[in-house]
Amino acid sequence: MARSASMRSEQADRPVALVTGSTSGIGEAVARRLAADGMRVVVHSRRSAQAGEALAAELGGAYVRADLAVEDEARGLVEAALGRYGRLDVLVNNAGISRPIPHDDLAAATPADWRQLLEVNLIAPWVLCTAALPTLRQSPVGGSIVNITSHAGVRPKGSSVPYAASKAALNHVTRLLAAALAPEVRVNAVAPGLVDTPMTKDWAHAHEVWRNRAPMRRPAQPADVADVVASLIAHTYLTGEVIMLDGGLNLT
Ligand code: NAD
Repeated sequence: MARSASMRSEQADRPVALVTGSTSGIGEAVARRLAADGMRVVVHSRRSAQAGEALAAELGGAYVRADLAVEDEARGLVEAALGRYGRLDVLVNNAGISRPIPHDDLAAATPADWRQLLEVNLIAPWVLCTAALPTLRQSPVGGSIVNITSHAGVRPKGSSVPYAASKAALNHVTRLLAAALAPEVRVNAVAPGLVDTPMTKDWAHAHEVWRNRAPMRRPAQPADVADVVASLIAHTYLTGEVIMLDGGLNLT
């Protein structure tokens, strides 16, 4: 009896992490890694509720569905996480969209494309940071936000100009918020190059570039990104960093 009470209190002490877009690709790898590191994980997706429920059950976490392009649903996601666990220590803004558009075809990147990419890749993370801030500030282990951005937000590359601009903006928001929210909450970003995920499965040319030109001679695996996210959360003095994770392609 006493043992099960102490197990319940150990359970309640474990930090809680919300990982957006975590039923596939990078988000799923991050959710698995943070659970393996002992956190209680809130799995989220826009559509795939069955996969989300299954992953949450496997990790002993919770699942919440929300379309982050809808502000109320984004706020509701944080509320649902708090309703379930009463606290949030880590927010990983991973969910994002990409749309291949040649950079020199200006007419093809319509204002509607711009709005949609900025809505999901920039404004949704902002709404989630805003909604989560009060609880992150109270985290007994120190709140931590990790944004998944892109090497395209650092160099003039990427699937489209609006995508790259959305990620560049999120890199800058990372630094601005790191300065504004310290010391209670740390804010960092991982800026991957090509990662082998459903988003990039048809990007044959990019895969060839990484195999032939990147010093590491391969794209990243989702677990490579998850390793860096876990390190950023664990290193409690680190804030305001945008870690390029492109296998060294930027050196070539
Ligand atoms: P993915 O398609 O597997 O994951 C993207 C996730 O975002 C999905 O779970 C999707 O449902 C979710 N999402 C998209 N729109 C949403 C919305 N409106 N509401 C809620 N969820 C939404 O792709 P991934 O490669 O794992 O991408 C994860 C993140 O990494 C994205 O932000 C992406 O821009 C970034 N990234 C990926 C690569 C790469 O090469 N794969 C490189 C750099 C950055």
